[in-house]
Amino acid sequence: MMQQEKTDIKSMNLTELTAWVEALGEKKFRAKQIYEWLHKKQASSFEEMTNLPKSLIEKLREQCVLVSLKKEAVQISKLDGTRKYLFALSDGNVIESVLMRYKHGNSVCISSQVGCRMGCRFCASTLDGLVRGLAPSEMLDQIYQIGKDIGERISNVVVMGTGEPMDNFENLLKFIELLTDENGLNISQRNLTVSTCGIVPKMRELAEKKLAITLALSLHASNQKKRKELMPVANRYEIGEVVEACRYYFAQTGRRVTFEYSLVAGVNDTAEDARELAALIHGMNCHVNLIPVNPIKERNYRQPDAHAVLAFKNKLEKYGINVTIRREMGRDIDGACGQLRKRYMADAGE
Ligand code: SAH
Repeated sequence: MMQQEKTDIKSMNLTELTAWVEALGEKKFRAKQIYEWLHKKQASSFEEMTNLPKSLIEKLREQCVLVSLKKEAVQISKLDGTRKYLFALSDGNVIESVLMRYKHGNSVCISSQVGCRMGCRFCASTLDGLVRGLAPSEMLDQIYQIGKDIGERISNVVVMGTGEPMDNFENLLKFIELLTDENGLNISQRNLTVSTCGIVPKMRELAEKKLAITLALSLHASNQKKRKELMPVANRYEIGEVVEACRYYFAQTGRRVTFEYSLVAGVNDTAEDARELAALIHGMNCHVNLIPVNPIKERNYRQPDAHAVLAFKNKLEKYGINVTIRREMGRDIDGACGQLRKRYMADAGE
């Protein structure tokens, strides 16, 4: 007999959970109780759900999995308290998440996939390709586990870790719904940012949901030719189309778009690049985040020196663009995204 796959109960919204509970022959209000155990109290086992009858707990154990990530390793920065977590999933894969402490609160950067298939040239997370997308529960639990670990509230979430969120779109939407649900952690949509390399149809679809989340677009180049050299996704979606999708996002949601621009010495950091970039996004309600590239050993990309970074920023400002230089967090712990996971897998002999 084929074994039936167990229900991932932490990936269901309250409506789905209610239908599921009723199909079990249980009373409707049990769904709300279970949901609160999962998403408010963040229980890591069914046994903790002490206001449920034993018989129901037994049914849950038989029919469901309760996704709960296992903390494999954590690195803590002595400089700024940034924490890098390595979590194990139930199938043995590992993922990275990062906690950043700011004056305005605790921010968690989560992974959306195990590995990535986008192939951006400067990125460590994509070197071994994609393994699989994460379930909504696996995205959520990164935040739940970190909140529990530090015993403090998480106020901001950025989907900027390993993976391309728009390549795991349905699960991303469910994750957003659960994360921002008032019956759960209740994080404000305004405090959530989703970063994409520019999958145009999905950006447009997201825009049409009219959520209050921030869209960040990884631009990294000022024209199509340069972007293609850094980002294979540019072969599918032309730079003008991608920027147009950002304009559409603003038009639909009223949310200012963020452009991420990793500065690579001698590649995209000239005065001409700044001029072209300013022209490309001219008149948009947007913000540019400059990130000196984090060098990975597999590639030869270097950071421009501090002077060149500042010159690039000043140039953009002269053209009237809002711009910040991303403060580097956790400089003393495994640098670029994906590097902790890569090192761990290398040590494990994979
Ligand atoms: N796939 C999504 C989200 C994950 S990457 C995206 O592309 O946006 C998060 C951000 O980190 C992206 O802007 C990505 O281009 C950037 N990034 C990846 N590797 C980097 C590196 N080595 N140095 C600087 N930025 C990097």
